[in-house]
Amino acid sequence: MSPKTKPFHLIINGKKVPTGRCFEVLNPANEKVAGLASLARKKDLDDAVRAARMAFEKWREVPESRRQAACLEIASKIEENAEELAHILTAEQGKPLNGLGSRWEIGGAVAWTRYTASLSLPVKILQDNDDGRVELHRKPIGVVGSITPWNFPVLIAIWHIIPAVLSGNTVVSKPSPFTPLSTLRLIELMNEVLPEGVVNCIAGKDRLGAAMTAHEGIGKIVFTGSCATGQKIMVNSAETMKRLTLELGGNDAGIVLPDVAPGQIAEGLFWGAFINSGQTCAALKRLYVHDDVYDEVCDELVAFARKMKVGEGTNEDVVLGPIQNSKQYDIVAGLVRSAESKGRVLLGGDPGEIQEKMGGKGYFYPLTIIADLENGDPLVDKEQFGPVLPIIRYRQIEEAIEKANDNPNGLGGSVWSRDIEKAREIANRMECGSVWINKHGMIQPNAPFGGVKRSGFGVEFAEEGLVEYTDIQVVFS
Ligand code: NAD
Repeated sequence: MSPKTKPFHLIINGKKVPTGRCFEVLNPANEKVAGLASLARKKDLDDAVRAARMAFEKWREVPESRRQAACLEIASKIEENAEELAHILTAEQGKPLNGLGSRWEIGGAVAWTRYTASLSLPVKILQDNDDGRVELHRKPIGVVGSITPWNFPVLIAIWHIIPAVLSGNTVVSKPSPFTPLSTLRLIELMNEVLPEGVVNCIAGKDRLGAAMTAHEGIGKIVFTGSCATGQKIMVNSAETMKRLTLELGGNDAGIVLPDVAPGQIAEGLFWGAFINSGQTCAALKRLYVHDDVYDEVCDELVAFARKMKVGEGTNEDVVLGPIQNSKQYDIVAGLVRSAESKGRVLLGGDPGEIQEKMGGKGYFYPLTIIADLENGDPLVDKEQFGPVLPIIRYRQIEEAIEKANDNPNGLGGSVWSRDIEKAREIANRMECGSVWINKHGMIQPNAPFGGVKRSGFGVEFAEEGLVEYTDIQVVFS
């Protein structure tokens, strides 16, 4: 099915719900309409919450093994429809079908769903002796509101929804208004497996998200998006005392030690920074390189980047697509402009050439690497969330660690060295939720992932992520 053929409607209580009003979703590669989505009103949110609430009463009683089986069936449904989902995703998000693009994202959604389906939350016996028995039960919270961003719409929806339903909750999902189509289709597929009302999807603008965060019927919000929105969600959800998982922005630092072989790490550094055209929360966003290897690392990175093909995502040999929307394009372009006079542009910088090549359409930005920047420069201090990497020279490792930590965000970080023990010591001193050695951003479903400082709180994945969808009840007998 082409996303253009008919509007994508809301999914409420197992049914497609047209609302009479649609909004356009643009293809960032050509600025044409990729598809139409029904626009949810406050009434649709209320209906979705009511449906989820009613479904919860039964779903919570379904044995865990049956919920696990349902999740496995969902994985198979996604797999069977992978090609269709990948094309919708490329049309609305801009990422290529190939490389680490749409097919890879859908494959990740299948793998994550299967792994998560294997998790379990058995009752824990805290005490069982002559003084009595104490049991710790994990109870589902109720209706979970999932609010997702536009960078990995399908994968992030899966990260929110699967642990929620596995642990006995029901869900109202709100995708980003920039990329609602793939999520609407994904949830339509889920509804071929799940009882009606267990997972609902409403599409709309930011204010719909705000209405969810204040809604009386929603017990928890799981949110992935910007720090600014995360702060608003905390304020809005205070009155109803919602449980929150906030996966917010990152400004991940990488530290390259003097003992590296630059030619060997260039590929890992490149993909760590430029995956999804840099529009990745835990991408490498600032690179601190030791003076001894500085020039060589810069040269190898630029040489690797030059080989990468940027273009329209439906082109099978393209590995990186455009920036997803014009607002983000302007943020990236502004940060690059602010860095040009201060640093040395090694690659890219000027969007003129790529824009011309793409016929003046789409939010294409060249892969850009700017050296000789410092903390205090906006491109280093702020999250660029685009295909741009600033490089900072350092001479003392203490200086690099201090500068890496001198940022309000703390999502991920990386250390690059042949000396793994030394790298581990440095990793231990980095203020972030995940640290990788000789790679960056490699998340996996069996390892908890989340930020520290202003990158949010709570974790996703593994048992630690699953328990975030539950309240504890202790039974003393
Ligand atoms: P965003 O915060 O603008 O929007 C995210 C979602 O929140 C959208 O669905 C939007 O409609 C909704 N929203 C907006 N205002 C809201 C409000 N007041 N209340 C409730 N919901 C509201 O973020 P974005 O531009 O879509 O995504 C980019 C940002 O997300 C980047 O900063 C990036 O680092 C971050 N991100 C973080 C992670 C992570 O796991 N930490 C993953 C992906 C993206």
